[in-house]
Amino acid sequence: MSFEIHKWDGLAKRGKFTTKSGRSFETPALFPVVHPKAQRISPETLQNVLGFDQFIISTYIISKHYEIDTLPSIHEFLDSKSVIMMDSGAYQLMLYGDVELSSEGTIRIQEKLQTDIGVIMDHPIGYDVSFKEAKKRVETTVNRVNESLKLIGDESAVSWTLPIQGGKYLDLIGSYLDQVITAEILKKYSFFALGSVVQVMINQDYSTLVKMIITAKEKLPVKFPLHLFGAGHPAMFALAAYLGCDTFDSAAYSLMAKDGRYMTSYGTYHINDLPDLPCVCPVCSKVTLYDFINSKDKTTMLALHNLWVSKQEIMEIRLAISRGDLWDLVIRRANTVPGLARATKLAIKMLCQKRRIRDLYLSGTPASKNYAIRISNKIDLLKPEIQFIIDRAAGFIDNISNDVVIILFIDMTSTSSKRLPEKLLTNLRNEVVSGIFLASPVFGYIPISVNELFPTSQYTSDLTIDEMNLELLEKQKDIMKLQDVSNLIAISDYTWPDEIINKLLHKLDFKIIKTDKIYSELLKI
Ligand SMILES: [Zn+2]
Repeated sequence: MSFEIHKWDGLAKRGKFTTKSGRSFETPALFPVVHPKAQRISPETLQNVLGFDQFIISTYIISKHYEIDTLPSIHEFLDSKSVIMMDSGAYQLMLYGDVELSSEGTIRIQEKLQTDIGVIMDHPIGYDVSFKEAKKRVETTVNRVNESLKLIGDESAVSWTLPIQGGKYLDLIGSYLDQVITAEILKKYSFFALGSVVQVMINQDYSTLVKMIITAKEKLPVKFPLHLFGAGHPAMFALAAYLGCDTFDSAAYSLMAKDGRYMTSYGTYHINDLPDLPCVCPVCSKVTLYDFINSKDKTTMLALHNLWVSKQEIMEIRLAISRGDLWDLVIRRANTVPGLARATKLAIKMLCQKRRIRDLYLSGTPASKNYAIRISNKIDLLKPEIQFIIDRAAGFIDNISNDVVIILFIDMTSTSSKRLPEKLLTNLRNEVVSGIFLASPVFGYIPISVNELFPTSQYTSDLTIDEMNLELLEKQKDIMKLQDVSNLIAISDYTWPDEIINKLLHKLDFKIIKTDKIYSELLKI
């Protein structure tokens, strides 16, 4: 069993997971839910036509319909070479109250059928469950995890999944993980999976989902993949991946098809409401809308189309991680489904503010890229590359002891003029250099020595100056204690309006020099 991580983008990663049984798949990955009795699209089609090398199936449903002792391995039974994950059936337990399947029985069945990835029986928590009841269920799950240690042999060929419980109660998720993240338990498990998500998604409460994922990520060991049970619509896959979920499963392609619903990456429509088929997948490109709606195979065709859309989204996410611009995809998707924009803003705020997760998030952000980052909307000012520079500059601006401080207000909105000539610095005295700061409406005050770091000179912005991060400059004025500097000089080109400079340096005693020749002005000092 191994999880090789090839590329990070913030908390998101591209990788390859190889199960103990030797099968592998690339991440991020979607596990379509397969029903052993009512499956419209065969596992063979899933793999060889649609390119899904993995799917998930319920232990509970198999045990309900078949005599386990008469079955061969799950791969033989389903005639598939894919990676198969067997869910425990805990979700049915939550829906129907009880199932005739013990936690020991679940493990035995999965071992007997030689699943690649197994899931122990946990006790999920519905959306409307009280805190007291949720706490009880968390305790049940902790007990089952502890029991599993005796039931899972050291030689088990199954890669076992440790479910994460607590539901919408974040403290419970935290205390649950404190109890189950032990060396002894981690020896038996290969995967983590966040549960109790389906009903949060049905209520379109993406903000709660964001909080649940981030709470879990703060505690989880980095080298274990994180699965999201019941991820739902593809429009939210990008955000889930951005928060560090490596795999998802979803039955939405099939459930929506039964309701006549047609997925797109920007929302779902009833097929009868469409004026045309807005898709070029192998299903839609071969038929007219009229033939689609009137086909006797309409539900299967819808399920196939929905899977193509889901697959396309996964491929876009993988490409975006490789390029290091998953942020841009997340922001594009935020406006597609109600509630997702609010959840996306919340996610960004939490990633920027919560200390441990911020460190992990920024450490996963590529230190440089071979293209300029884009600032198209105000929210882009919170991109991790920008936060990284703000963090780097913090140590310098917190600790100024210079008598002379020079602030350069130069054009930061066009791509051509952001670089200061390197020879300028070598021609200046050291004590002068340490007192020179660029006032950047993107990065705040940047010491001139940090000016070459990506992306201080490699970004493009579509914002006007008053839409930019002026609040940061105002806040940093106090941190820098500019009021204590005996000789404060502002050198500005003509791109910075006087009223903005005056506002930023309000109440300070400073001298302003307006010039188009900033560098020669500096050399005079
Ligand atoms: Zn299509």
